[in-house]
This record gives sequence, C-alpha cells and structure tokens, in this order.
Amino acid sequence: MADEDVPVLIVGGSMVGLTTAMLLGHHGVPALSVERHAGTAIHPRAGHFQLRTMEVLRQLGLEDRVRAKSLETYSETGGIIAVESLAGRELATYVEELNEGVEGFSPTRRVFINQDVLEPLLAERALELGASVRNRTEAVALEQDDAGATVALRDLDSGDEREVRARYVVAADGNRSPMRERLGIAMRGYGQLSRSITIYFRADCAELLRDRNQGVIYVHNPELRGFFRLDRTGGNGFLVINTVGEDVTQDSAIDVQSGLTEERALAFLRTAIGTDMPMEIVDVAKWRAEANWAERLRAGRVFLAGDAAHVVPPNGGFGGNTGVQDALNLAWKLAAVLKGEAGPALLDSYEAERLPLSRLTVEQAYTRYATRVVPERGTEGVEPPIPDIELEIGLVMRSEAILGEDGDDGVLHLSPSELDGRPGTRAPHVELADDRSTLDLFGSQFVVLRPAGDAVDDWAPPGATSHVIDAEPFAEAYGLPAGGATLVRPDGVVAWRARGPAGRDELARALTTALSLSAR
Ligand SMILES: Cc1cc2nc3c(=O)[nH]c(=O)nc-3n(C[C@H](O)[C@H](O)[C@H](O)COP(=O)(O)OP(=O)(O)OC[C@H]3O[C@@H](n4cnc5c(N)ncnc54)[C@H](O)[C@@H]3O)c2cc1C
Repeated sequence: MADEDVPVLIVGGSMVGLTTAMLLGHHGVPALSVERHAGTAIHPRAGHFQLRTMEVLRQLGLEDRVRAKSLETYSETGGIIAVESLAGRELATYVEELNEGVEGFSPTRRVFINQDVLEPLLAERALELGASVRNRTEAVALEQDDAGATVALRDLDSGDEREVRARYVVAADGNRSPMRERLGIAMRGYGQLSRSITIYFRADCAELLRDRNQGVIYVHNPELRGFFRLDRTGGNGFLVINTVGEDVTQDSAIDVQSGLTEERALAFLRTAIGTDMPMEIVDVAKWRAEANWAERLRAGRVFLAGDAAHVVPPNGGFGGNTGVQDALNLAWKLAAVLKGEAGPALLDSYEAERLPLSRLTVEQAYTRYATRVVPERGTEGVEPPIPDIELEIGLVMRSEAILGEDGDDGVLHLSPSELDGRPGTRAPHVELADDRSTLDLFGSQFVVLRPAGDAVDDWAPPGATSHVIDAEPFAEAYGLPAGGATLVRPDGVVAWRARGPAGRDELARALTTALSLSAR
C-alpha cells in the first residue's frame, strides 16, 4: 500500500514541471510536483519567452505579473544583434525588435524575463491553482502497472523514503532525465555540441551599450563566441561562452570548461566587453549544449515533457518555450481522462502531436546554433531556418483526436498569414467587440465558434460551450462559411471545422472523436 495517492505526480519542479502543475490545477486536477532542489531555478538560463508561452500565462492569469516583472529588468523592445565585442563593431542584426511582426497575430507580446525571476511566479500560481510542490524531494524508483505508477520519493533532508501512487506521471526532470533513462527511452539527434559556461557578472557596461537597447547580444571574435544578456541598467548580466579559440571547424564538441579558472573567466569577460574596466564575477555555471529529441514521449503511464523530451542549444530560445507547449498539450488531456470525460486513447495523441514538432524544433535550434555560433562549418545537412513566429504559433499537429481535412499537405508549420483555422493548428486570434481575443474564450472546455449570420444554430454538445462571433474578420480568419462551425480544444487547438452548414449530429460526432470516446 502506498503512503499517498495523487492523480498526477510531476517529477521536476522547474519551468515545465511548474507549468504542468498550473495547467492541471486550472483543469481541476491537484497534482503533486516533486523537486530535488530546495527552491526554483537559481540561474537565469531562459530569458526569451515566446508568444505561445505568454498566451498560456495569460490564460492562467499570470500575464500582467510576468510583464511587470520583466520590465523591472529588461526593456520591451530589445532585439538580437551580433558584435565583435561590446566596445567593438556591430556585425549583424538577427532580430531588430523582439516583437517586430507580431502585431495582429496574438493578444499578447513576447517578453524577456529571466527564468530565476519567472519560476517563483509559476510556483506561486501553481499553489494558488491547487497544486502541491514538494522541494528537497527526489523520485528514486518507479514501477508501473495497468492502473497506475508507484514512485518512491526520498526526502533529501531526512533520508526517509515513502511511496506515492499516481494514476499518471509527468517526467519534467530535465535534459538528463533520470525517468527517461529508467524507461529506456533513447535520444536521437546531434549529440553534444559544446561544454559551455555562463559567467554571471557585474560591470558597468551602460556606456558601451550606447543607445542600443538589445535583449541578446552575440559576441563573435577570434577569441570567443557566445552571447550577453544585460539588464536595462547595463550593470548586471551574464555572458554565455560557446566556443573559445579560432578552430571551430572540427566536428567534435567544443570544450570551454577545461582549465577554467577565475582568472581565465575574467579574461573571457574582458575580451567580450572589449575594454578593461572594474568587473566582478558573481558565479560561473557549467552546462552542455545539445540538440537531441527523445524517440518516444510516453512509456505506459509516464509522459516526458520539457528538456526530458527535447534538448536544444539556447540559440533561438526554444528550450523552455517548447516545454510549455508540451505541458499545454498534455495537461488538459490528462485532466479529461482522469475526470472520465475522455477515453484513455486520447493520451496517445500527445506523442502523435508533439513528437514531430519536438524534432522540428530541435532541428531549428540546431540551425540557429550552426549559423550563429559555428558558421565556418557550413550549412550542408543543416535545415533551412523557419521564422520564429511559425514555430511559436504556426505549428501543425496530427493525431487520431484531430479531424483532419481532405488534401492534407503534411506541412508541420505555416506562416501566421496562412493560418486559417485548419484542424491541428492554434485557433487564430481575432479581436472581439469587448477588446478581448478569441483566445480568451479557450482554456477550460471545448468551444464551438460560429460566424454570425442568418439562422445561426447556437448549440454546443454537452461538455462544450458555444459562441457566435460577429467580429468582422472572424469567418475569414477561421476559414468558415455562413453556417459553418469550428470546434476548439481546451489547449486552443482546432480539433475540427465544418466548412459548410454543420448539423448537431456532426458536431457531437466530432467532439466524440476529439475526446477519443469512440474508442471506448
Ligand atoms: C544559457 C541558457 C539560456 C537559455 N535560454 C532560453 C530561452 O531564452 N528561452 C527558453 O525557452 N529556454 C532557454 N533555455 C532552456 C531552458 O532553460 C530549459 O529548456 C528549461 O529550463 C527546461 O525546463 P524543464 O523544467 O524541462 O527542465 P529543468 O529546468 O532542467 O528542470 C528539471 C528539474 O527536475 C529536477 N529533477 C531531476 N530529476 C529529479 C528527480 N529524480 N526527482 C526530483 N526532481 C528532479 C531538477 O532538479 C530540475 O529542477 C536556456 C538554457 C540555457 C542553459
């Protein structure tokens, strides 16, 4: 007999574990998240949060808190450039302004905020939404059977062990994922790219920033390559170093960690700043850049999410953001199955929908690493870059729970201007009359949307809500004719649409498929 029963155990209480806990709480499932560290992240790590992540935080009532916190450290309008050194020449502009080109596609905007500042907000909200978070607790063993999983948890202060019984387990336990190892799930991809370091420092770089208000500043010179993130005062920040020395042409992983001393770290910092000035190193973190994806996302009752499912180099800022999308896809499905509203087969759609996108995102992060960090290796065999916004809000998913349309071209991503509400994509943002967004209608139940018109049958099957939208661009944005309808899932993904007059039976059947109930 286990000491404790929970519906969902989340192993890992960092960015993705906490997001999963918040989303499950939002759907009425009180999950337990266990984390071996004493608190949330101590290093900034992720800093660039994409539209889809902000949309999820908006849905969870966190958007304003996160934006206000972000403005304490960063400007809203930073971009991504490359320089020889802070004092030296500017070499390239990768992204002019963080939110350039997003207007009209989302009710929210991207932000820069450091992960160590973001995570306490996530933890606080997870608790508010009914989750439990247990720190200094490590999952040390797992056994599964047809009804659930039994996980041994060790209290790292007392050494005591207890067993928890969970219907499902989410492994959000990071890139080295002990759970993934335990389940024997292999990684595919590019292996290890570098043994990198991040130097956290204080130095007054305000003058060197001049009027450049940049969120990420890549440094490219013969001695080192990496990137800076500096706060808006220009006095605090960190320098990530990916390569040192000129020879980056060989294919082996680049090692910045060997022989690292405080003196050497100061020399790196001086080179990247490009001039001597008083500087203080606060900390140095060592980490490995990798570009790999897990070949499966599920083993029985355990689901991989976040870095446990895909590891990317930081270029492009995809790591945590992709993990948030995993959590968004998985949480409502777990909740619906646990509440008996969906068939258990719905859970198979997590891997079907996310695995191809996991691989796509790893390839794209690798492309950004290859072109920004080691361009002299050339781009043979490297996938061409896809615009960031397509990877944020233009992804296309397929599974048994999505009712695809005839003539599916198999694409995995679309530009926002091509997004027309096709099944498997994020339902588009359209501004409503009350200044809200169509996206504000999603998040809890299935939602049926119809364009206003003559004789609209404003009906939704049990378990769904219905809205008739009379905002001008709605019908076009969702690809709906008069009398048509669209069915949107709680994660904001279109499950089905009727491109002609849709009857109640058709709609009810679509919901049955989207919930995998027909497979019962
Ligand atoms: C320099 C740098 C810059 C980055 N920039 C960005 C960016 O701009 N945008 C972005 O989206 N991402 C970025 N990332 C990536 C981002 O930090 C990660 O993708 C993100 O932290 C993944 O979150 P996670 O919760 O999946 O894993 P992690 O953050 O690794 O958390 C896993 C947690 O699980 C815990 N754990 C492991 N095993 C157990 C166990 N057995 N029992 C209990 N707890 C356990 C660990 O202690 C850890 O806290 C960056 C990373 C780096 C290094």
